[in-house]
Amino acid sequence: MFALGDASNLPTSKTGAAIRKQAPVLVANLLAAMAGRPGEAAYDGYTSCPLVTGYGRLVLAEFDYDGNPAETFPFDQAKERRSMYLLKKYALPQMYWHGMLRGRA
Ligand SMILES: Cc1cc2nc3c(=O)[nH]c(=O)nc-3n(C[C@H](O)[C@H](O)[C@H](O)COP(=O)(O)OP(=O)(O)OC[C@H]3O[C@@H](n4cnc5c(N)ncnc54)[C@H](O)[C@@H]3O)c2cc1C
Repeated sequence: MFALGDASNLPTSKTGAAIRKQAPVLVANLLAAMAGRPGEAAYDGYTSCPLVTGYGRLVLAEFDYDGNPAETFPFDQAKERRSMYLLKKYALPQMYWHGMLRGRA
């Protein structure tokens, strides 16, 4: 049985960001099963929670199954930032509509 997204009830925060990391793993393992090979792709529980902390400010929390930081950017994402707010407001919707939904990101 294969599952991903909220209905999979994996022990991590249910987000679209998590699904973005789950989907390639599921596809790889599904293709392996169809070819009679063992599935070797693994998902580490990555998820991302954009936490609005004030007007125009946001903490982009990214972590794995164990709660370890799994940050995308080369700076301390635990700090609230305007840049992360702008990312959430303007960039992530573009990534969602033009990247994820089209299988590009
Ligand atoms: C308020 C809110 C804010 C969020 N903010 C973020 C965010 O900033 N970033 C982020 O990454 N994630 C965010 N999320 C989480 C993200 O929206 C979900 O994790 C994601 O949408 C789950 O996708 P899914 O396809 O697994 O499930 P869903 O999007 O729930 O899709 C399931 C679909 O199945 C349909 N369905 C249900 N039962 C049946 C049935 N019996 N027959 C046929 N169809 C059925 C439903 O109508 C629905 O369309 C947020 C969620 C909420 C509620």
